Amino acid sequence: MSTDLMPNRYRPGEVSLPEREAALIARRDAVLGASYRLQYRKPVHFVRGEGMWLYDPDGKPYLDFYNNVPSLGHCNAEINAAMAAQAARLSANTRYLEPRVVEYAERLVDTFPAELDRVIFTCTGSESNDLALRIARLATGNEGVIVSAYAYHGTSAAVAAVSPNLGDAVNLSPSVRIVNLPGPSGIPDEQANEFFEAEVRAAIHDLRRRGIGIAAFMFDSIFSSDGVWIDPPGFLNGAVAAVREAGGLVIADEVQPGFGRTGAHFWGFARHDIVPDLVTLGKPMGNGFPIGAVVGRRGPVETFGVTARYSNTFAGNTVGIATADAVLTILQRDRILDNVLTVSETLRKGLEQIASRTGGILGIRNAGLFFGIDIGMGASLPAERRAMALDVVNAMRDNGVLISTTGANEDVLKVRPPLVCQDEHVQLFLRSLEDALRIITSR
Ligand code: PMP
Repeated sequence: MSTDLMPNRYRPGEVSLPEREAALIARRDAVLGASYRLQYRKPVHFVRGEGMWLYDPDGKPYLDFYNNVPSLGHCNAEINAAMAAQAARLSANTRYLEPRVVEYAERLVDTFPAELDRVIFTCTGSESNDLALRIARLATGNEGVIVSAYAYHGTSAAVAAVSPNLGDAVNLSPSVRIVNLPGPSGIPDEQANEFFEAEVRAAIHDLRRRGIGIAAFMFDSIFSSDGVWIDPPGFLNGAVAAVREAGGLVIADEVQPGFGRTGAHFWGFARHDIVPDLVTLGKPMGNGFPIGAVVGRRGPVETFGVTARYSNTFAGNTVGIATADAVLTILQRDRILDNVLTVSETLRKGLEQIASRTGGILGIRNAGLFFGIDIGMGASLPAERRAMALDVVNAMRDNGVLISTTGANEDVLKVRPPLVCQDEHVQLFLRSLEDALRIITSR
């Protein structure tokens, strides 16, 4: 496992920077402090974004194949117009009667299976997961939570305590159990469901032996921080049944795969043909405006609502709702999911061709426009694979293409372009990746 808290980052003294960037970093460090890390060995400095592109102060364009928040493109004019028009008219909170929040909630639940018909708004993915845990714990009367080995579910104290990905310095809750995924454990597809069910049953058993009941199994439906593990479809089924049998709720964290990223479905959990009890939303919901939600089954959401006091000042405010409404309109009207399917197919084929021509690619996994690409040479050691992946990411950055790494060993390229990506962008990306791999593998 990588013990570096963020391998793909700037380290002072490792590279020399132009005076403009060096001066800004010095001021930034002095006021923002050590919690703020800059991505890439040589940080990127942006002043403008448009569609698939980000621009530095000299006007140099960078192709964005990394950011899944602006999923309908950076600074989308239609979304910005909806946001500005609402900001000029009214920004109300959810304690006043106001139609837009109701209309949007109705539209949102229509994108889910019929059982999931309640919405509570939040401002971030972390808040969504935090709230989902509160609902699950209150509805079940239990504390125990099961998560995957390198899960990341957010920043609040409660969700950090169920996020093994944050590293050894962040204590996990005594009532959390971590389970191994079949893919990174090398389990063949035919045995994946059985393997994962056994992992989850063992975790439930272990909790019980310590007198802890299970509140929830929480998982990112695309397992992004674990390294993008999406196959085989259905491998969660036995685990979901085991959790329900033990009285726990199933929480799908859709912060990464939600709102159409996987192309075939609006929500990532649909790939596994399951209907969770609670689903948490964030990142692309407002294309950059901070808005999230928990969508859930009536039972637990109503139990929470009538029992616990819950108030969230900004969540569901009219400006956020107008923005999210514009996002949903564009996703549906412009058939963005069809584009995801077409473009992701081209990208996958291109990657397979590169893998057959050049060394350095050990595996390709994707669901729609979320790709995990394993980097390394046949017999390379984990540290060598990690170093190689970082070299590829930074060579591409120098060449004006943005991606990063993920996974337990940070040797998986994480590729998540905005969903409005077109063929021309795919070709630019592929060329840049192949150039980087050729140079790095011929050293
Ligand atoms: N869940 C997952 C799977 C995430 O990837 C993230 C953010 N990277 C979060 C939750 C937290 O979202 P936010 O940063 O908006 O609080």
